[in-house]
Amino acid sequence: MEVLKAIIQRCKHLAFDLNFSRAKDWKAEAKGRVVVGYMPIYFPREIVHAAGGMAVGIFGGGDRKQVVKGDAYYQSYICHIPRSILELALDKQMDHFDGFVFPSICDVIRNLSGIFKQKKIGKFVKYMDFPQNFLPEIGGAFYQEEMRHVLHLIREINGREATAASLNHAIRLYNHNRRLIETIYDIRQEYPWRLSMEEFYYILRAGTVIPVEEHNAILEQVCERIRKDIGTPQDKVKVVVSGAFCEQPAIGLIRAIEEAGCYVVDDDYMLGSRMITGDIADDTDKPLEAIAHAYLTQSRYSSSIYDVNDPKEYRLAKIVRDRGADGVIFASASFCDPSLLDAPIFQNAFNRMGIRYIAFQYSENINQFKVIKEQVGAFSDSIKLWEDEPAEAIYA
Ligand code: SF4
Repeated sequence: MEVLKAIIQRCKHLAFDLNFSRAKDWKAEAKGRVVVGYMPIYFPREIVHAAGGMAVGIFGGGDRKQVVKGDAYYQSYICHIPRSILELALDKQMDHFDGFVFPSICDVIRNLSGIFKQKKIGKFVKYMDFPQNFLPEIGGAFYQEEMRHVLHLIREINGREATAASLNHAIRLYNHNRRLIETIYDIRQEYPWRLSMEEFYYILRAGTVIPVEEHNAILEQVCERIRKDIGTPQDKVKVVVSGAFCEQPAIGLIRAIEEAGCYVVDDDYMLGSRMITGDIADDTDKPLEAIAHAYLTQSRYSSSIYDVNDPKEYRLAKIVRDRGADGVIFASASFCDPSLLDAPIFQNAFNRMGIRYIAFQYSENINQFKVIKEQVGAFSDSIKLWEDEPAEAIYA
């Protein structure tokens, strides 16, 4: 238990180190290393690793960064994360970053990439489009071009060529990383009291700011420890959290959900680290094609993906079923268009399917959750009291 506690404390420190010190130290350890920041949701970190770099997740300042300058760049009626990211940049907390990748998800992120360019933050700023066409010869080919462009931008800094061998090696490391993460989810599905969601969140988020090799070592230790019969079960319902994939809720909110009577057995907080389900082919002479193929055929449901042949409401319903969850909590950042536009689609479908849910909104810098906690508490109680009632009866 002591070892696990120490790991969690270290991850907590790493996850919320808004100076990204581990990446800075890592870069200083050898010549030719580059640090590439990426915004949520998903970015194929493998390609940066293969080019001698480290991809570092930037998930905003949360409730730990006061926004002063960032507000001047944005109107009031959008989410909070771009303001705090900009604040971090303007306060020079990311000065050791060589470049930034802004994965396409919404207009806010697109505009943030424009501001970074305008302010000349980093040696390169790449707004990266992801395919919405799922044919390999169209969407797949396009995506490979996008990845080649990122590699070109890195090569201009460090002169390093990503070879098939280095890409395959990186793919293997991230395959291992995803497998370990899923192992923890699987253990928590059965024994969620062994590692709270808050603790797991620290571990997951730390993985976005340290070298993958180090994160794999941490995950292996966590797996080993939570395989043992530790902790005490509590009378809580199991839920899936959906919609919190970009701007992150404050830790107090993640904790409040569990304190209010819910075990979170699946979520999309760190969706990017889990976006690809299963392994990517790691012994191929066309590794970029393998990464693109995995994105087209093995991606999790996401608000940033419109796949008409595989509707996301059924994919989320399957996660609920497979995890044995009792309901879903739709948690969306205020003004988050991708999340809030999806919510009615999910909710209409879940009314039909009889899956229970509640929905609320949050902001990364708000640390008052009394109302949400009461709402989640009532949700969990209602599930316990009317376990056998179909959802239509409860929500009628
Ligand atoms: S929180 Fe939502 S709206 Fe804001 S940048 Fe992220 S995806 Fe876009």
